[in-house]
Amino acid sequence: MRAMTLRTRFAPSPTGHLHVGNARTALFSALLAAQADGEFILRIEDTDAERSRAEFETMLLADLAWLGLHWQEGPDLGGPHAPYRQSERSRIYRTYIDKLAGQGRTYPCFCTPGELALARKIQLAAGRPPRYAGTCARLTNAEIETRLAQGLKPALRFRVPDQGATEFDDLIRGAQRFAHKDIGDFVIRRADGSPAFFFSNALDDALMGVTQVLRGEDHLANTPRQLLILEALGLHAPRYGHLPLVLGAGSAPLSKREGGGSLQELRSAGILPEALVNYLARLGHVYAREDFLSLAELVRDFNVAHIGHAPAHFDHAQLEHWQREAIKHADSGRLWNWLAEMPKLAALVPAEQRADFIETVRGNLVRPAEARVWADIIFGERPELSDASRTAICSAGPAFFDAAIRALPEARTGFAGFANAVSAATGARGRKLFMPLRAALTGLEHGPEMERIWPLLTAARVKARLQHAAVLCK
Ligand code: GLU
Repeated sequence: MRAMTLRTRFAPSPTGHLHVGNARTALFSALLAAQADGEFILRIEDTDAERSRAEFETMLLADLAWLGLHWQEGPDLGGPHAPYRQSERSRIYRTYIDKLAGQGRTYPCFCTPGELALARKIQLAAGRPPRYAGTCARLTNAEIETRLAQGLKPALRFRVPDQGATEFDDLIRGAQRFAHKDIGDFVIRRADGSPAFFFSNALDDALMGVTQVLRGEDHLANTPRQLLILEALGLHAPRYGHLPLVLGAGSAPLSKREGGGSLQELRSAGILPEALVNYLARLGHVYAREDFLSLAELVRDFNVAHIGHAPAHFDHAQLEHWQREAIKHADSGRLWNWLAEMPKLAALVPAEQRADFIETVRGNLVRPAEARVWADIIFGERPELSDASRTAICSAGPAFFDAAIRALPEARTGFAGFANAVSAATGARGRKLFMPLRAALTGLEHGPEMERIWPLLTAARVKARLQHAAVLCK
């Protein structure tokens, strides 16, 4: 028999921007599917008409694509289980809700939000877990008719069996058991006629043939409810795996300051998607290899068994580490496209020197703005001198730079040949030789190797900068 194709999904609600926690869930789901040569689908859970917005959906798709994720079915691509937007699946939900109602597994509930809140308060005060008290569970048909005739709009509740328990083997947390008496009858259709999350989410996973669900731990307690619905409908349930939360430093929720904001923020701060993917893939999941991995390598070595049980902490310093790695590994065309988002950069760097410029500054970049600084230094007017550069220039003195200008004809052999000639003429060596030259030519005390910067500076610029240094402290 042919093994069943592994299918995972990401099912965001378009009620806000994509944050790192959700992005990690999407990534793990995509990695899991790709690892098994399976399928990854995207479903938009927009049943909450008030909070869902089309522009959030557009941005979600753009963020996921930016991250480098590919889905095989989704609202933009269609697929065998279309539509992939829950707001377009009302007829399907109605059919299955009617089926449950026909089996006597549901009842209308006329309790108002105020009554429910009060009942919850009383239960909590008595130290009991809040669950629906069952007020409407035993209404007679006549009582129901009377309320409907009064124009009251009921929600529809699913009847949870009194006895027994629902058990399942969580992909991450192992054996789980929820006693039915603790669950309480829950709403599957709201009073306004829209399906509740428990229902549409579970039904769609089953109808769309999802075999593995990875999602946040906050959904763990929803799972027994969803399994009960699918069992009542005779549908095949997926395996669920609940990911520990992503927290900020300490145990506080992620804050923006920690880089835990939206993907859009990280993107506009210049983070490369390859950096974020390398970091997220290791956020609560262990790879044996600690070096930078391509997406194909991240897929190959992904293993649900390597997902930890403890909350993961988003650490901005770690992201910076992966950012440096990503810059180190990106090919030069890719880096140029990333840098070219910086205003004026393209105008500063001559097209035929782009590749050399990239290789010169690559090791000194963490953000595109730094490339702009180096482009200014290398291709712009005479750079501003830092205080330390001034000091280095002045302690070398005018005679040093006069000698350097005289040595310029020797510079055809590159920076090393030039520096040797300056050394021979002045007797300066080591720091005393290189610091004043670097300071005069770049205005800074550190940066890319001078050997690399040298060919990008024109002879005219070199001469002007040395001349300026020669007169600076006269
Ligand atoms: N729409 C739900 C959410 O964004 C999906 C939960 C799930 O993955 O099952 O939280």
